[in-house]
Amino acid sequence: MALTVAQDRAAQTARRLERLRERMAAEGVDALWIGSPANRRYLSGFSGSSGWLLITATDAQLWTDFRYLEQAAQEAPGFEIVRHEPQVHAHLARHLQERGVRRLGFEADHVRYGEWQRLRAAVPEAIELVGVSGWVEQLRRIKDEVELAWIREAARLADEALLEVLAGLRPGVTERQLALDLEFAMRRRGATAAAFDLIVVAGPRSALPHGQPGPHALEPGQFVTLDYGAVVGGYCSDCTRTVVVGRATPRHREIYRVVLEAQRRALEAIRPGATGAEVDRAARQVIEEAGYGDRFGHATGHGVGLEVHEGPRLSALAEDERLEPGMVVTVEPGIYIPGWGGVRIEDLVVVTEDGGEILTRVSKELLEVGLA
Ligand code: ZN
Ligand code: ZN
Repeated sequence: MALTVAQDRAAQTARRLERLRERMAAEGVDALWIGSPANRRYLSGFSGSSGWLLITATDAQLWTDFRYLEQAAQEAPGFEIVRHEPQVHAHLARHLQERGVRRLGFEADHVRYGEWQRLRAAVPEAIELVGVSGWVEQLRRIKDEVELAWIREAARLADEALLEVLAGLRPGVTERQLALDLEFAMRRRGATAAAFDLIVVAGPRSALPHGQPGPHALEPGQFVTLDYGAVVGGYCSDCTRTVVVGRATPRHREIYRVVLEAQRRALEAIRPGATGAEVDRAARQVIEEAGYGDRFGHATGHGVGLEVHEGPRLSALAEDERLEPGMVVTVEPGIYIPGWGGVRIEDLVVVTEDGGEILTRVSKELLEVGLA
């Protein structure tokens, strides 16, 4: 019999907390205070915008305010809901003293300096504050079946949205209008949000890897790069396609061919045990050999999940980051030629037992769009 959503959630929470508590015990941290939205949601299921988790060897509490009490109880079945006082740090300090906590872990990568100062001022000196880094993020790298189902759905509907928008694309439409149409098409299919500010850049502006859509009208003979993603169930997708408005020239085809070959080689390198640096190298080598090495200045890919950029990295820096089944990564080499244009091709991939499964289904043939 299928589990209900709440049972499923509680089981998921229990597995995740067990692994986190192993780490806490190993590092001698009695209690962990977690406020970053993605980590909070991953551990508890709570999707609200304000709250903290307080996790000890025996307790799992979600501290939030009046606005979220009912939502928290529904979404976080594995947690005891605590309505915190307006002075949350003073409330926390009292609670920690009552429980005899000696070492409190906080999220070193997410707590702002001002918040750290308030925490330090409220908590007695006898309680050590321990900055911890990447503990939950490490768990988040490997997705379970429920997470993979959301990511698949986000990728699927984003693909459909792209095909709809490309079919209607005509010269004269602006980058901004195209970005709006694409976001609307994703939302209409059930996305709760775009995964990031969509990138739609044409002509010379396609040489800007992360350019913002502007008031520029698309003209025949231009590359258009569309980098887009949807959020479904809290999980992101992330894909890029580059198309030509009207007819492609030999130069368009040459640059595109190199990027596509680089992407194909990197996809082939995806398998359990491969490092992020090896996958990056596979793509970079093709682009360097074609003479465009200095035109590919970003990493080959990144993990995707509750956040659009998370671990692991597929870059030269990732020599110790080994791929494992259940990781979800992008593969997105590009070539960017200032003043002329650029190409990026990005697929979303799940690492499997023996390679990778590509979730992005939109064709990677060089598409000529907007022809009458
Ligand atoms: Zn992207
Ligand atoms: Zn990406």
